[in-house]
Amino acid sequence: MRVVIIGTGYVGLVTGTCFAELGNRVTCVDTDERKIQMLLEGKTPIYEPGLEEMIKRNSESGDLVFTMSLQEALPKAQIVFIAVGTPMGEDGSADLQYVLQVADQIGSLMSNDLVIVNKSTVPVGTADRVAQVVQQAIDARIQAGEVSAAALKFHVLSNPEFLKEGSAITDFMKPDRVVIGADDEKAGELLRMLYEPFTLKSNRIIMMDVKSAELTKYAANAMLATRISFMNEIANLCEKTGANAGKVRIGIGSDSRIGNAFLFPGCGYGGSCFPKDVQALIKMMDACGINAHILKSVEEVNARQKKIMAQKVISRFGEDLTGKIFAIWGLAFKPNTDDVREAPAIDTIVELISRGALIQTYDPEAMAQAKNVYLKDVDGIKFCTNKYDALSDADALLLMTEWSSFRSPDFDEIKERLRFPVIFDGRNQFERYMLHEAGFEYYAIGIPRTQLKNT
Ligand code: NAD
Repeated sequence: MRVVIIGTGYVGLVTGTCFAELGNRVTCVDTDERKIQMLLEGKTPIYEPGLEEMIKRNSESGDLVFTMSLQEALPKAQIVFIAVGTPMGEDGSADLQYVLQVADQIGSLMSNDLVIVNKSTVPVGTADRVAQVVQQAIDARIQAGEVSAAALKFHVLSNPEFLKEGSAITDFMKPDRVVIGADDEKAGELLRMLYEPFTLKSNRIIMMDVKSAELTKYAANAMLATRISFMNEIANLCEKTGANAGKVRIGIGSDSRIGNAFLFPGCGYGGSCFPKDVQALIKMMDACGINAHILKSVEEVNARQKKIMAQKVISRFGEDLTGKIFAIWGLAFKPNTDDVREAPAIDTIVELISRGALIQTYDPEAMAQAKNVYLKDVDGIKFCTNKYDALSDADALLLMTEWSSFRSPDFDEIKERLRFPVIFDGRNQFERYMLHEAGFEYYAIGIPRTQLKNT
């Protein structure tokens, strides 16, 4: 099929590349000149395992094309995906300005019938708003005599995306499910046909009405965020009572009604989706006169949890951290991505620096993003070339992201390089090592010191 993807970010780029991988002719459009230029030069603007090779292969075959010109791209399309950002607006609701801009552009430029698919995460009712804006732009062209009345037909569908940064290619190529919201049967069928090759082994395509599809995405992210905050709250109780959150996690996760996923205690959730989607869902409920009791608590618990690493440091080293140096391993909000949006590491660094500390940090992929965007105005941070350099003369190590290259480090070298052998583990990665026996002072999440091996 001939597909156009508008918005070539984490979602749009992966979506377009995966459709091209299965032989579709895909054009990815973006207004960011730097991004498109990089892609035209064969470079990938984001880090996602396996993506670069796939882009290269499909660009060379001509199935994947990048452009800034929607005007050039649209005439070739049967299906157009909107995959632009829907950031948190000032009041917490989803900011739809980019989605609606794109809707206007589509209506102004389309020259044949189209199935328009909203892949961005958007509040219930957005497909209707998109349809209105597209129709208004078409009507203006009819009035101007550019196109004849009733010449251009379109349908707006919802197809929320569930890929996870860090495993986006696998998630897209082998999806747990594909949700298609279509109020028009024929348009829904076209989109189903596009996805069918991804789910040949078992039919994982779930068809529903547009509004239910729009809400499914928010409900899924809110449920996952709720599990994380729930477990973090239990972890905090564990620390106070002497129970071990790691054991409780296994104890409850083994119940098939509960399951093991998203129950790891840690230093709070971040990223580009959970924080803004939970907020947007709360706003959606507010607008309907429903008090989102659970989701407000999920947010509150997470905001508290994102402070927990700094609090542990303060409890150990005091309120005034002037002259102290802390090594931070991991900046991304999770491993295998360079995305640092809302990452707990950023909050922790800012808090420690505000108390006079200096930071030495290393992340395998997220250093450029953090340095050039999210921490660009913050002084007192040294970005190091490897994880051990970040430790030199530091007063303690804080592990913030569970990159696999941090999982089994050389603890002798850690001890040699640190001024004090103190480790704060925000992801409970080192619990299995006998760190106390090895002379470390070790702090984890939800595991009281009496429960640590060999204390
Ligand atoms: P992103 O910020 O990485 O990418 C959005 C892209 O859209 C940018 O490159 C931007 O330049 C481009 N853009 C904006 N206006 C444009 C226009 N008028 N024409 C062409 N391009 C334009 O965002 P993302 O992380 O890919 O997220 C996109 C949507 O998908 C959001 O609604 C998000 O909530 C949702 N989502 C994201 C993820 C994720 O893991 N990142 C997962 C599922 C769903």
